[in-house]
Order: sequence, then structure tokens, then C-alpha cells
Amino acid sequence: MKVALVNIPLRVPGSDEWITVPPQGYGGIQWVVANLMDGLLELGHEVFLLGAPGSPAGAPGLTVVPVGEPEEIQRWLRESDVDVVHDHSGGLIGPAGLRPGTAFISSHHFTTRAVNPAGCTYSSRAQRAHCGGGDDAPVIPIPVDPARYRSAADAVPKEDFLLFMGRISPHKGALEAAAFAAASGRRLVLAGPAWEPDYFAEITSRYGSTVEAIGEVGAERRLDLLASAHAVLAMSQAVEGPWGGIWCEPGATVVSEAAVSGTPVVGTRNGCLAEIVPSVGEVVAYGTDFTPEEARRVLDGLPSPDEVRREAVRLWGHVEIAGRYVEQYRRLLSGVTWK
Ligand code: UDP
Repeated sequence: MKVALVNIPLRVPGSDEWITVPPQGYGGIQWVVANLMDGLLELGHEVFLLGAPGSPAGAPGLTVVPVGEPEEIQRWLRESDVDVVHDHSGGLIGPAGLRPGTAFISSHHFTTRAVNPAGCTYSSRAQRAHCGGGDDAPVIPIPVDPARYRSAADAVPKEDFLLFMGRISPHKGALEAAAFAAASGRRLVLAGPAWEPDYFAEITSRYGSTVEAIGEVGAERRLDLLASAHAVLAMSQAVEGPWGGIWCEPGATVVSEAAVSGTPVVGTRNGCLAEIVPSVGEVVAYGTDFTPEEARRVLDGLPSPDEVRREAVRLWGHVEIAGRYVEQYRRLLSGVTWK
């Protein structure tokens, strides 16, 4: 099939450059699109990537279409002969004006109601319920391509530190990660953009002696951190999120990335985390109230690197997940839909 994958078109903050697929730094949706694209290509489909001008080209079957503005993307889609438009833009583009017979599917990555609910898929059952998706809307977790991460053969040595890799925001639980790390007696490496200076200051004032904030990371350093950490902390909290309402972690890209890198995950039960963390780690309570005994017990009981790698590929491998999407493409092409 010819599949147009529409990334969420965003520019690197403070620059004219587009965020690419995969992204230069922080960027969960762009990693989802990159890993899914690998799976579709491996299954022999032709992929047209839009919404990420400047992305690396060269993979057989991949065309990076140099359009970024939503109107330009929509125009290209109207004029193209693709079989499927798979949208990851959060509704910046839509099905209007597509050639008849083209399937339109969107993967929802936010916590709001989907802009185009017909043909919308969700990353977790929790996200679907939170966003008001129908019971028949497919739930397809975030894919991960092991080739994009460190493998067992890379033999990256494990270190003692715990890793938080994400937006340093209250709903993502960076403060609670710092509390957990402090209780366990381990250092927390805090990687990611800190767009809320007061919150960041609170973390460093309360846990400064055990937190090492390294800013946003990308490329090789990011891969080494994901593979060398003792555990990744995904401690999302049920507090007000960025689009209003209580935060419901939709898909948590970092969980499958950690696991495929051989690193188990400690997470809360927020949103998707209750569905995915138990396979590759352990669920802990909300808040900052961890005792040293509890934190150490959790860390001592985590699954091994081999186990979590195996689970990541079994549950979220890029070819398996791409296959699940292809099934939905075929349903839509045969006239079935859902809301
Ligand atoms: N990330 C990164 N560098 C950083 C912090 C985060 O590359 O310094 C990436 C991380 O690997 C993940 C994404 O940004 O792929 C965050 O996505 P996630 O779904 O975990 O959280 P979101 O911010 O989308 O809620």
C-alpha cells in the first residue's frame, strides 16, 4: 500500500528548522512516527512522510515530502494517489477533499477529544476512555524498533543512576521521580526540557543533592542514557495537564524505549502506565511519600535487561504494531469505520 504518514508539523523552538522524524531532541510523537514508519517499510509498504521536512531520507520505500505547513500538507494529500492517510498531527489536517476511496486514520496522541474521531486509534484503553473514544475504536500501543536503540550486543554497561527522560512538568512526575530516587539512595539523571522554571527550581531546591539535571538530550547520548540507567522513572501524576483536565498519560513513548534498551521501568498507574509498566517493571503510588525500604525493594525486584527487551519486542515491536495498523487500514478501505 501507499501510506502517507503525517507527522505533527512543529518547528524547533526559536528556529525556522522543522522538527524531523526522528526528532533532534525531545519529541514523543516524532519517535512514534519513526518507529511505525520502520515497521511499515519492513512490511513492504511505500511510505510518504509529511510534516517533517529535512528528515533523513534514503530508506528503501520512503519518500520524505518537503511540506510542513498544514495547508501545504492538505494540498499534497488532495492531489496524491496514496491508499491511506495516517495522521499523527492532532487534527491539523483532516479527511476533507481526499480522493474518494482513500482511507483516513488518525492516531491520537493527546488527552483531549479527537478532532477527527471517525477512524481514530488510541495508544491505551485509558486514553480512549479519557478522550471519549468509542469501545470499538482500536487501541494500538506505541511501537518501538530495536534497531533505533542500543541492543544487548552493544553491551552498554549498567550504572547505578535512575533516569527521568521527558518534559520536566508537574503532570510528568519529575518531582516524584526525584523523591523516589532520593529515597532509594540513588542519583537521578533528569533529562528533558524544563519549560516551567518554578517547578524546576522546586525540584533542585528539594532534591538538588541527588538530582543531576542535564537539559534536553538527543542522538547518541540519549541512547546511552536509556541503556545504562538502572531504571527509568515514569511517574506521571493525576494533576492538571497541559490541555486542561486531569492528566491521563496517553501512550508514554519512553516506556517502550527504555525496555527495548534493556532498562526496566518504575511508573505510577496514571493513564496508559497501568497497562504497560507491569510487563517491564513495577507500578508505585502517586506522590512523593516513598520510604527507603520500599524504594529499594522496588528496584531490587525489577525484571532483568533481557526480560524487558524481550517483552518490549513481543508487545510493542515495530513490525507487529505496523501489522496491527495495516489491519485497520484494510478495514477502513473496505468501508468499515468507527468513532
Ligand atoms: N526525549 C528526548 N530527549 C529529552 C527528553 C525526552 O529525546 O531530553 C524523548 C523521549 O525519548 C521520548 C519523548 O521525548 O521519545 C517523550 O515522549 P513521551 O511520550 O514519553 O512523553 P510526552 O512528552 O510526549 O508526554
